[in-house]
Amino acid sequence: MTNFFLGIDLGGTEVKLAIADAKGNIIEQSSMPNSFTSDPKKILPQLIKRANNMKYINKVSGTGVGVAGDVDQKKGVLRFSPNLPKWSGIPIGKILKNGLKHRVVIDNDANAAAWGAFWLDAGGKAQNLVCITLGTGVGGGIICNGKLYHGTTGSAGEIGHITIDPLGPKCNCGNHGCVERFIGAAYLSEAAVSAIKNGRKSILPGLVGGRLDRITPRILDIAAHKNDKLANEIWQFAGEKLGIIIADLVNIINPEKVVLAGGVSKADGLILKPVIETVKKRAFKMPARACHIVISKYTQKLGVVGAAFLAR
Ligand SMILES: [Zn+2]
Repeated sequence: MTNFFLGIDLGGTEVKLAIADAKGNIIEQSSMPNSFTSDPKKILPQLIKRANNMKYINKVSGTGVGVAGDVDQKKGVLRFSPNLPKWSGIPIGKILKNGLKHRVVIDNDANAAAWGAFWLDAGGKAQNLVCITLGTGVGGGIICNGKLYHGTTGSAGEIGHITIDPLGPKCNCGNHGCVERFIGAAYLSEAAVSAIKNGRKSILPGLVGGRLDRITPRILDIAAHKNDKLANEIWQFAGEKLGIIIADLVNIINPEKVVLAGGVSKADGLILKPVIETVKKRAFKMPARACHIVISKYTQKLGVVGAAFLAR
């Protein structure tokens, strides 16, 4: 047995597997598709088979799983997932443990990413750290005194559902005006599409051959770098909204580092600059000065390696 760990990133569209060493280097990886309607009774046996077929599986001493949803870490049960509705109540930890014959730890996927950011981006040094994953949804994980902060029921860190507009549009979680409802990937695209439909001039329609449904954050990124005013405004808007909640987090948690990860964070300076300006304007001076806000250098593997590290 060597010091290898299997990480599983169980998402609504894909399941990623990676065997990592104790330093977070990926030794072997694999993936399989998943879907909103997937049946855990079918997917879990396939997942176990795939993991057991990996070349280095015999050198793995534990598996960590990051799942998109509300997780009971102690019981290893996925309580509820808006992305995987048929998986609610499934004892993923127990099923995987029986199939893999070693220790299995499960947690929320954003918590796994935060654990990955703590080790990979901060080298295990920033004792108080907040990680925000920006993608379809906005997730969060909090490291407090060098440990993942789970709260009373294991649900802590739902940063995407901080209210920034009490009268705002309804969010998937049932609340109104959550930050996710403004800066989730689909809503950034939606903001662009509605502006264009209202007559705003932009190079965006040209970049997608007139197919407005193909405007993604990646396209908004390209347009902004070509000095498109609308695309730049959308990034500025997203950065300000994100900056507002990070200013709150800076005041409440007083973190040493805030790590932004996920697809939308690839826009890099476009989002980081307004975030930093907003935090500087709104948060208390001392904690704001002590906090480094960065984009993760490991976005691609943060979730899966962070999951593997849960078992380390
Ligand atoms: Zn919400």
